[in-house]
Amino acid sequence: MNKLVIYIDMDGVLANFDKSHRQLEKESGKKVHRPDLVLDFATFEPMKGAIEAVKKLEEMGHNLFIATTPPWDHPDSWGQKRNWIQEHLPTLKRKMFLTHRKDMLKGDILIDDSFSRGQPNFEGEWMHFGQDGMDWPYVVETIQNMTNMLKVINK
Ligand SMILES: [Mg+2]
Repeated sequence: MNKLVIYIDMDGVLANFDKSHRQLEKESGKKVHRPDLVLDFATFEPMKGAIEAVKKLEEMGHNLFIATTPPWDHPDSWGQKRNWIQEHLPTLKRKMFLTHRKDMLKGDILIDDSFSRGQPNFEGEWMHFGQDGMDWPYVVETIQNMTNMLKVINK
């Protein structure tokens, strides 16, 4: 099997949650402690390099999915996330998992910047985005190397 099943987190990986949080605080002139309950998730800017990276992973032939944890107490965010995907990554439509338990997902790679939703217990490889220089170019390069290796092994 040369095709990997890859899950990609949204906030802090595909979508720039922090930037919208900072903008909200700047505009309101005060600290916002639960931005996840008030922000419009459809309006987040894509993270640097994210859209291009997804395209490259698709070109490698892998099976990509979104795996995101929407705030339970902000149910509008569930639809806002869907709308973000429709706008920025339409090739991933109908490939979205909403879950608070990322360890329950079945697959090879999980690209995620957080560890509080079961990421460390994901059955495949968890690429801890944002840690130790793990940015989009690094992720793409690593998966490209894995892809090349799989082609050799499965010849
Ligand atoms: Mg995240």
